[in-house]
Amino acid sequence: MILILAGCGKTLPARSEFMLGTICTINLYQGGTAALYGAVFARLRQIEERMSSNAVDTEVARVNQNAGIMPVKVSAEVIRVLSRALYYAELSGGAFDPTVDPLVKLWGIGTEYARVPEEEEIRGALALVDWREVVIDEEAGTVFLPQAGMGIDLGAIAKGYAADEAARLIKEAGVSEALIDLGGNIYALGTKAKGAPWRIAVQDPRSSRGTYIGVLELGEKSVVTSGVYERFLDAGDQHYHHILSTVDGYPAERGLLSVTVITDTSIDADALSTTLFVLGYEEGRALVDSLENVEAIFVFQDLSVRGTPGALDVFTLTNDQYRIVG
Ligand code: FAD
Ligand code: MG
Repeated sequence: MILILAGCGKTLPARSEFMLGTICTINLYQGGTAALYGAVFARLRQIEERMSSNAVDTEVARVNQNAGIMPVKVSAEVIRVLSRALYYAELSGGAFDPTVDPLVKLWGIGTEYARVPEEEEIRGALALVDWREVVIDEEAGTVFLPQAGMGIDLGAIAKGYAADEAARLIKEAGVSEALIDLGGNIYALGTKAKGAPWRIAVQDPRSSRGTYIGVLELGEKSVVTSGVYERFLDAGDQHYHHILSTVDGYPAERGLLSVTVITDTSIDADALSTTLFVLGYEEGRALVDSLENVEAIFVFQDLSVRGTPGALDVFTLTNDQYRIVG
């Protein structure tokens, strides 16, 4: 995802930092201060330090290290994000599953140890993936994974939560117009000067960042894309991406290149874009249609594009290699 920005009287330039495993860019318009930029990035860092499963000393990492041993005290927001993840796990019949960590670690896609695992290793990891086994004790503020080797990975939802938190801080500071881009996880806050809509580009899922397939025109919304282009491993003539099927343990293969979700909160847009990618068009579309105020665009490997009416209404295709089929 990339952004097309029309200048409009902003006071400070955008600021970018590498965190949450990606480039995070915040653009505060009208009223943004260096102190606010500092506070927002500090908050993102705090979320990373609590929720990353890549580092060894985060709250989520401690839960994982203590799988099969004992419950671990975590902050209220880790429970909140994990609970939302479990909600989407239930809604999707486990297609979205925050206990996917053993499988994610086995493949290592996006890391220097990425490799295609043996069938037997995949079976072993899959046996440890089951969202229904997560034990949350709200009162004690603890999370427990009952089997040794189990693990939580909030990579498909925590960037969305972080974007919502950034938006909250920015609004509380009285800034009414801002763009938050956490590696393609977008939150467009407020409406631009003179009521012009935000113009948010949908990334071309086949090419490196910078080219796009079309543009969404929106008011205050979050837009999040899950696709095959973010992290992958090319081995032989196979392209393995990082969104995994909890049924067979391989990258989810549903004929899709990407799914973009548009809704009010980024935590939901993030979780849903991953969920829909794993479910595929038929089931994914049925799920979206059952939810209020959620719109989606599905981009297929044959370069056709489908979307909900509410998404297609605000989407302009600009790349003639793709075609909208409904
Ligand atoms: P999404 O579609 O939103 O999520 C895909 C990711 O979700 C996968 O990478 C995997 O982690 C997980 N996943 C895969 N299959 C499923 C499934 N079926 N159900 C649920 N989840 C699934 N990257 C680094 O390289 N180093 C870091 O230190 C690092 N720290 C991070 C800390 C935090 C708090 C977060 C949120 C992310 C961090 N990342 C880090 C990035 C992370 O590893 C993922 O690559 C990234 O979040 C994927 O986001 P996405 O938007 O590309 O894809
Ligand atoms: Mg996601």
